[in-house]
Amino acid sequence: MKTYQGKGVYGAIAVGKISLFKKSDAAVKRIRVVDTDNEKTRFEQAKTLAIRQLQEIYNKALKEVGEANAAIFEIHQMMLDDDDYNDSINNIIDSQSVNAEYAVAVTADNFAEMFAAMDDTYMKARAADVRDISNRLINNLSGNFRIEAPSDEKVIICAGDLAPSETVSLDKDKVLAFVTAYGSSNSHTAILARNMNIPAVIGVGDELLNGIKDGDEAIVDGYTGEIFIDPDEETHAKLLEKQHVDEEKKRLLQELKGKENITLDGRKINVYANIGSVGDIGKVLANDAGGIGLFRSEFLYLENSDYPTEEQQFAAYKKVLESMAGKKVIIRTLDIGADKKVDYFNLKPEENPALGYRAIRICLTRPEVFRTQLRALYRASVFGNLGIMFPMITSVSELQKIMAICEEVKSELKSQGAEYSDKIELGIMIETPAAAIISDKLAPMVDFFSVGTNDLTQYTLACDRQNPDIEQFVDTHHEAILRLIEMSAENAHKHGAWIGICGELGADTTLTETFLRMGIDELSVSPTFVLKVRDAVRSIDLSK
Ligand code: PEP
Ligand code: MG
Repeated sequence: MKTYQGKGVYGAIAVGKISLFKKSDAAVKRIRVVDTDNEKTRFEQAKTLAIRQLQEIYNKALKEVGEANAAIFEIHQMMLDDDDYNDSINNIIDSQSVNAEYAVAVTADNFAEMFAAMDDTYMKARAADVRDISNRLINNLSGNFRIEAPSDEKVIICAGDLAPSETVSLDKDKVLAFVTAYGSSNSHTAILARNMNIPAVIGVGDELLNGIKDGDEAIVDGYTGEIFIDPDEETHAKLLEKQHVDEEKKRLLQELKGKENITLDGRKINVYANIGSVGDIGKVLANDAGGIGLFRSEFLYLENSDYPTEEQQFAAYKKVLESMAGKKVIIRTLDIGADKKVDYFNLKPEENPALGYRAIRICLTRPEVFRTQLRALYRASVFGNLGIMFPMITSVSELQKIMAICEEVKSELKSQGAEYSDKIELGIMIETPAAAIISDKLAPMVDFFSVGTNDLTQYTLACDRQNPDIEQFVDTHHEAILRLIEMSAENAHKHGAWIGICGELGADTTLTETFLRMGIDELSVSPTFVLKVRDAVRSIDLSK
């Protein structure tokens, strides 16, 4: 038995086989071959498999995110059949007597460069699609696809690191647990794992990848951050017992469903859920959340290979609002940048991405992107109880600009005869120290605040949330953070606004009483933590 130690980011236990996640951009070697016909046949087989995989993904996307979002996977299938693309690959194999992987990689580079050089933004964005389908072919040729290959067995995914987009694209039904060598607990990958209700351990270190192989039997303890490879009988029995107790505890929490989120002395608290995609709604409903306190809309952009259109976004927002049947749904405008990179945004590499061009800064400098999203949100608002919230606010002037754009979007819609609700609440995230410190000025301008403790922590403590080497300096209970939250709560209430917490700290039940005493009105957490927070709220007596 071998034991590894990382940081547990979602408490649960998984028992199963390891599957190594291969990065799709692995370097491709140029190999000289004699039998070029054989390479061309391998290419044809990889292509047939790719088309089948894309059909499966299309069917899955159709169910989870609707026809408009799924359409890209149909386009990818057509691109794979494009004559020019196929001719180029076959010609390179023949003329240079090289392996199919290399021919695909060279073709991908040539075609992507050609698209990227075009003036038309739609055609420019096709560069990412060519890379995507080519990576799929290369992975198929080298037998690297694990997750999407039909397999009945669920596996423990082990990787160096997983980008948010990679995590999103994994087939959740086939993942028992995530284990990564790198990464930090507040990264979006960790948040996604929590949202997906999947045991996760991160930051195990290099030794993880050197010491394991595909198919190894393993147990992952998401509570302690331990990973046992080829566990001995005693460990196996102990962990199975722990898994059993854990499941029993979770079952007991289920009994809180349908009960109110009310303290012992009668104060009602809203316990909402955070989601990243339309597909998460099932978990929100299953965990009986009172609403959605944070819909990270950027995942619509991360899942797409081009800017999602107004219609695509409208369909997604409408679906969430309708599914929540009149319960509050707070959709955050896009928060791209920093660790959430999207190729087609063509963002420049930055020295300090967390302090760089992200979120509202992109929206205010690319108003066409912002307006498209706002139009979709306003149009969808008639289908439920919508709140719109803006991320990364640091100043009054930003908020004034945002409000002016919202007004323009509304009058444009009105002049076009499009309907929107007049009951939409507008709010901002308090996730920079600046926003908390000037919360007295911001509060009169909005209906609500929502504290993003993940970013508020990184900016207040000057600790990059992506950097695992400084985790020991990240004191999430630091007095400075708590004071900023308290100050924001006081200022919100002074000006008639309500205040919630939607960062990960909202689920830390050792702080629930502190938050309620500060006057926090809402806690929005991963769907899987809703019942745990409900349990905590119901055991607190604020009269004492
Ligand atoms: C936060 O910063 O706390 C937050 C909720 O936003 P995100 O984690 O998406 O940056
Ligand atoms: Mg944030």
